Amino acid sequence: MNVLPHLSSLDNITPATRDFINKLRASEFTGDIEYSYSSRLAVATDNSIYQKTPQALVLPKSIEDIQHIAKSAHGNVDISFSARGGGTGTNGQSLTPGVVVDTSRYMKEILELNLEESWVRVQSGVVKDALNDFLAPHGYFFSPDLSTSNRATIGGMISTDASGQGSLVYGKTSDHLLGLEAVAVDGSLISTGPISLKEAQDIAQTGGVLGSIYQQVLNTCVEKRQAIIDKFPRLNRFLTGYDLEHAYDFESETIDIGRLIAGAEGSLAFIGEAKLNITKIPTFTTLVNIKYDNFESALRHAPSMIAANATSVETVDSKVLNLARADIIWHSVSSLISDVPNKAMDGLNMVEYNSENQDEITEKIALLTSRLDDEIAQNKNGVIGYQLTTDKADIKKIYAMRKKAVGLLGKSKGEKKPIAFTEDTAVPPENLADFIMEFRALLDAHGLDYGMFGHVDAGVLHVRPALDLCDPEQEKLVNVISEQVVSLVAKYGGLMWGEHGKGYRSEYVPAFFGQELYTELRKLKAAFDPHNQMNPGKICTPIETNFELVKVSDTKRATFDRQIPIAFKQSFEPAMSCNGNGLCFNYDVKSPMCPSSKITQDRRHSPKGRAGLIREWLYQLSKHNINPDNIAPSSFKHSLFSKVSNTWGKSHKTDFNFEVFEAMNGCLACKSCSSQCPVGVDVPDFRAKFLAIYYSKYLRPLKDYFVANVESLAPMMAKAPRLFNFLVQNKPSEWLLKNAIGYVDTPALSTPKLIERTLVKPYVVNNQHDLNQLASLSDEAKKQHVLIVQDPFTSFYDADVIEHLVKFLKNMGKTPVLLPFSPNGKPQHVKGFLDKFEKTARSTASFLSSVHQLGIQMIGADASLVLCYRDEYTKLLGNELTNFSVLTVTEWLKQHAHDFNLSGIQGSNTQYKLLAHCSEKTALPETEATWKQVFAQFGLQLNVEAVGCCGMAGTYGHEAEHLENSTGIYNLSWQAAAKVSQNEEIVVTGYSCRSQVKRFEKYRPKHPIEVLAAISAV
Ligand SMILES: Cc1cc2nc3c(=O)[nH]c(=O)nc-3n(C[C@H](O)[C@H](O)[C@H](O)COP(=O)(O)OP(=O)(O)OC[C@H]3O[C@@H](n4cnc5c(N)ncnc54)[C@H](O)[C@@H]3O)c2cc1C
Ligand code: SF4
Ligand code: SF4
Repeated sequence: MNVLPHLSSLDNITPATRDFINKLRASEFTGDIEYSYSSRLAVATDNSIYQKTPQALVLPKSIEDIQHIAKSAHGNVDISFSARGGGTGTNGQSLTPGVVVDTSRYMKEILELNLEESWVRVQSGVVKDALNDFLAPHGYFFSPDLSTSNRATIGGMISTDASGQGSLVYGKTSDHLLGLEAVAVDGSLISTGPISLKEAQDIAQTGGVLGSIYQQVLNTCVEKRQAIIDKFPRLNRFLTGYDLEHAYDFESETIDIGRLIAGAEGSLAFIGEAKLNITKIPTFTTLVNIKYDNFESALRHAPSMIAANATSVETVDSKVLNLARADIIWHSVSSLISDVPNKAMDGLNMVEYNSENQDEITEKIALLTSRLDDEIAQNKNGVIGYQLTTDKADIKKIYAMRKKAVGLLGKSKGEKKPIAFTEDTAVPPENLADFIMEFRALLDAHGLDYGMFGHVDAGVLHVRPALDLCDPEQEKLVNVISEQVVSLVAKYGGLMWGEHGKGYRSEYVPAFFGQELYTELRKLKAAFDPHNQMNPGKICTPIETNFELVKVSDTKRATFDRQIPIAFKQSFEPAMSCNGNGLCFNYDVKSPMCPSSKITQDRRHSPKGRAGLIREWLYQLSKHNINPDNIAPSSFKHSLFSKVSNTWGKSHKTDFNFEVFEAMNGCLACKSCSSQCPVGVDVPDFRAKFLAIYYSKYLRPLKDYFVANVESLAPMMAKAPRLFNFLVQNKPSEWLLKNAIGYVDTPALSTPKLIERTLVKPYVVNNQHDLNQLASLSDEAKKQHVLIVQDPFTSFYDADVIEHLVKFLKNMGKTPVLLPFSPNGKPQHVKGFLDKFEKTARSTASFLSSVHQLGIQMIGADASLVLCYRDEYTKLLGNELTNFSVLTVTEWLKQHAHDFNLSGIQGSNTQYKLLAHCSEKTALPETEATWKQVFAQFGLQLNVEAVGCCGMAGTYGHEAEHLENSTGIYNLSWQAAAKVSQNEEIVVTGYSCRSQVKRFEKYRPKHPIEVLAAISAV
């Protein structure tokens, strides 16, 4: 038997940090200061292979707050900082053992827009896509693109000088930087923008931090200009960090120190605000997807596309294409990149043309397509086909597929995972194909698997070789391959870092800048940051100091992961596979991805945060006396006495188990992560196991028992629904339920009860005899029957839906059959009652398997419970015991819609607005389109409304402790969507969502089947 030990922070906070925190607290700082172990761990990783636990995390709200942060460390040279935005760096740029200054929680304000002069001023924590959402109605966008645009911040983009698709035309972030409001390490403000040489010289005379910065810039960027020009390759992805070349504009004789801070990875100053140049959204766009027989053909063909004046050329190899094909994302692009009959499509170039003038595009496309037609006819250049897309929404979908490529690669099975360390090399585009062939040979020689994609127009190819870093021998390969790639890039006249910055690759900075210019970098660093407090070790160290650069061989996440026993890893596999790409930080409130992260803005409450905490928890358990071969929840036991004393004593406050619990407890178990995360990190899966183990040590709250037993209580209460509603729906009972159990807004049971409704009664199956009768039906008769699998929520609390489902099926000439209620078990799983869940799942799986033998289709009204049969049941019981199929209503409609008899159906003028359940639409992406299509068949107009999570998620929204967050989540996207105008009606597929709308809007929206049942009653 295992006992869950008391766990504590492994890294203690130093006296210098405590001193800094105390000073910051005493200042007028208005942001948050966090130093719990869990907060620190939440920012200990990014998308790189490294892990560094900081001392503390501070979250400023304004530029003044950043000044307070810097000033509180003044004179305390043991404090070092790393600014952080989305934390999506691929090379550990934002990782630090010092203090993290995170602008992403609060500094998200768009401060000023000037359309006449085409610029916008923003705080540094604004997410790139949020900025573009704001600019779009004005016809503008911030043009440098990057794959992480839905979570990367402007501060991070400037500091890594981000760019991506379209960089030939749109350039890099630094090309759009008009000015910065930054904070120096001593807390003084630095305002940047181009100034004349004379002004720069005057400032240089003033002394102080700013004076020495300008003096050094003049000494380096002006005096050494020729050496700088001679050194750097003439590439679209020019060398930044620090951008010696562009800080001095020879033509206009101006100095702009903002160009040095851009790309400096936070090693010179904190960026508080930025003034950015914005670009008009092109009116016309056409994307040509050119299909090839292999990747080399795609690469070799790309330069001619560039010569044909394309705005951008993106490429993906067969590996990425095949992974995309197996992912839900393919569903959105399959018709746009269809297969070529009898040919294997093993390479793809996406060639985009933009213009204000449609004729110009038409002309270019005509030239290109006639050339492509010739090439296809003559079997030339490996071109096997092409497809044009002009619809902007469709083009967005294709790029979304391309943007997901990294995540898709991360999904690969086995211990070896694609990792970033040589992933953004840039060479002159004309050298790219040869370079890549040699790069591939290099990786092949090490026997490595990899996928490739990228911006062929800029000579930037992304490649992530798959390695198992938990194997120390494979970890060594990171260094070996890095060295080899550095030489290879040099051979082809390119750069090691065409896009993602340097981070732990900073050890190669001297090689790329050369000794002379590297010395200049160090002098600049010393002028900005004499004591090496700003992201130390990144890019360079101050001149005349002995500080060291960070190195590729630095401490990696695998250093900890490899110490976790294999059985632990296997049991908590989803937490191990998170690669930190941060897609779960998606800023968009209308995306279902992680509602708890959105409402708290706390990284601990994201799938990534939760996965990181579980890994640390497993690591810590492995240091205690836990059986390394068995971490099954059932193997953990504490006596009742110890549970009581653990719960009532104060020790849980210092127990790291409790910190992990808090993060898990905030999860809604909505399962968006399991389908939306590119590597399928399924938090509810490991959360349930963690809770089961945690509650072996601590007492459970009463409400958990209430929730876990809801499926046995509901049928009992539903025997006398009016009586129970009377007992529960009154102020004293509500008070009692809230204060004694922690449960709020208990929904009313449906009256009259489902099985007594006149319409339903004839179709209720009560016993084996009835089932036997069904078994004796002919095959043809069976096809006309539909078995309805009951769930506790719809049957007992929202019986109208089942009643209308019965009615609809009847109207469609089917014979509905209401199966006896058999508990689903999901509420038990959600709360981590895994032993109870197993019993329920076994019994219901056995019942449904026996019903399955009848050969009649089964459907369930609540999709999230239907999905539980496929997911949690299968994981627990395996395929054999879950060899039955229950369809969601939507799936059933999709299968049968073509044979409905619709004669006499009149349609209606009402505009329906569909708000689909998040679990359903993320797991079954065809859901919304199916409803739209079926409604159209019935002469009804259905518009799909993009909404995120409603905040209810089963019973989460009814738990008093979650009420505030549940309400907040509802307000993010549902509140506005639930408002209807005249002649409009919303339809809502999820039971939880309907109850949430009812609770806040005081009306119950219909399930779409209710509308169809009414309209089909001819
Ligand atoms: C899947 C994936 C795809 C990617 N694709 C691209 C791509 O297409 N193009 C591209 O350019 N990059 C790409 N990246 C890399 C990364 O997204 C970019 O570097 C991005 O600009 C980082 O932004 P962030 O807000 O996440 O910054 P963070 O990762 O938080 O920080 C990055 C650096 O900026 C510094 N920084 C952050 N905020 C500030 C501030 N306020 N003041 C001073 N310094 C600050 C940090 O100290 C750190 O050095 C990709 C990464 C991933 C995981
Ligand atoms: S949980 Fe998934 S989406 Fe989030 S960082 Fe990890 S891998 Fe990326
Ligand atoms: S289940 Fe939902 S709330 Fe929980 S981590 Fe996943 S996305 Fe976030």
